[in-house]
Amino acid sequence: MNLGLGDGLQSCVQCGLCLPHCPTWRVTGDESRSPRGRIALMRAVQEGGAPLSAEVLDSWDTCVLCRGCETACPSGVPFGELMEQTRDTLAAEGRITPRWERLALRSLTRPGLLREATRAMALAQRVGLVPRRLGLPRLPLRSEPMRASGDDVWLFTGCVMDAWQRDVHVAAQRVLEAAGYGVRPTGDLAPCCGALQRHAGLVEEAGDLAERIVSALPGGAPVVVDSAGCGAALQGYGALLGTRAAGSFASRVHDISDFLAAHPERLPAVEPERRLHLRVAVQDPCHLRHVQRAHQATRVVLAPYVDELVELDDEGLCCGAGGAFSMLHPGLAGAIRDRKLAAIERAAPDVVASANPGCSMHLGVAGVPVAHPLSLVWEAISGSPRQR
Ligand code: SF4
Ligand code: SF4
Repeated sequence: MNLGLGDGLQSCVQCGLCLPHCPTWRVTGDESRSPRGRIALMRAVQEGGAPLSAEVLDSWDTCVLCRGCETACPSGVPFGELMEQTRDTLAAEGRITPRWERLALRSLTRPGLLREATRAMALAQRVGLVPRRLGLPRLPLRSEPMRASGDDVWLFTGCVMDAWQRDVHVAAQRVLEAAGYGVRPTGDLAPCCGALQRHAGLVEEAGDLAERIVSALPGGAPVVVDSAGCGAALQGYGALLGTRAAGSFASRVHDISDFLAAHPERLPAVEPERRLHLRVAVQDPCHLRHVQRAHQATRVVLAPYVDELVELDDEGLCCGAGGAFSMLHPGLAGAIRDRKLAAIERAAPDVVASANPGCSMHLGVAGVPVAHPLSLVWEAISGSPRQR
């Protein structure tokens, strides 16, 4: 079967140096759940005529798409691209991403529906109708409205994060304003970045969303993003659409900490006694560390506002959230998270700073105190406690 994979498939020399950086290999020790094993199966199917057995599909389906292997690979194998193209082919043939999943993903593109569903689920949670085993965070009953304060930057607000973690966007907007930027939240103009659709192999849907966003946010203003996963998706629009407009849009997209860290002098200084008296561990979301490669900026922005920053000792291994991965593979995601929880326990922080909504929810439901870095920064600047 032709998976549509090009030269990148040949660049793997099967050295295995990526294995320790792969969360699914670390928790299973199974070669078919390693990057090397997954690439070997791609070759066997595309070049060797091997059948698409349940084991082969499972090997690819259980990849978190964290891309830790890509950063570790000395041969520059474009693993993310290979896996996304493989999933595109499989989804087009109806072998992965069942109808219910496609419908669920479609609902993310309808912000009104998402807000109503969130309110209904929040109410159901308050009266104990939502089982804890679903692993949902405590959802907000209402969200603070956001208003534009100028046109210097767009603040991308997206779908689930806007419905479930509006408080983070509000804090991010206030920090940007404190740094002197007029901010225009994208709101319903740009309802969903398409990252989850892309992971699920729904490349056409992801492309439609990308085109919609590129034309909804014209001009030259930077597009600032406080979700690592959304930022990575938006930065990938040039490659996804292959047009000049998409390439130029992608070059305007910045992770919010990366954007602020370029001019740290614009951020208000806080006297040492007004810093947050917290020991903060930084958790690097994979899409910030391995895809955007902008994770150091989180430390630059946070450091002046907290007593102590500490590093986790797991070399940035994935936490197991992976977009929808934790819902589709709860057992594997839980085992991967256990390793992260152990690293957090060794660092003994008061709070973990995470710049990705999926990671923060996945860790939060396991009892970890998590906050977005910008929520912490705003708490220190404003002196008012963040929402918990
Ligand atoms: S993906 Fe890279 S690191 Fe992993 S086995 Fe292939 S060449 Fe080696
Ligand atoms: S993307 Fe992540 S989970 Fe998938 S093979 Fe690479 S390291 Fe493993």
